[in-house]
Amino acid sequence: MTECIFCKMVEGEIPAAKVYEDEHVLAFMDIMPTTKGHVLLIPKVHRENIYEFSEDEAAQLFSAAPKIARALKAEFEPAGMNLLNNTGAAASQSVYHFHLHFIPRYDRQTDGFGLHWETK
Ligand code: 5GP
Repeated sequence: MTECIFCKMVEGEIPAAKVYEDEHVLAFMDIMPTTKGHVLLIPKVHRENIYEFSEDEAAQLFSAAPKIARALKAEFEPAGMNLLNNTGAAASQSVYHFHLHFIPRYDRQTDGFGLHWETK
């Protein structure tokens, strides 16, 4: 039995707030969002990091990315968006099943939740 939490989401053993799914990939809301609309996109097959991907697997994952980005843009109307992946502990990877973060960015004073931070 897998101990990987993202594999458990793929298998339906633990809940996920799914925003996109096809044969190869799953996208769901991040449980601790950096900003409003923070989504993670994962391959359904367990791959720890980008080094383990075949070219086909990479194409399957990245072909879903524009659909997710456009849906987030339409829903949340962010000013911009970060797409990023952390590979390895030194790069702050904490879940060892590859995931691409979609982090909508709002204006310079808000995180999209209506919270404001100090500006100079
Ligand atoms: P990393 O640091 O590995 O790049 O990012 C891991 C991400 O997974 C974090 O943003 C974290 O909030 C998210 N995460 C960790 N556990 C869960 C979970 O059980 N459910 C969901 N939806 N996201 C999770």
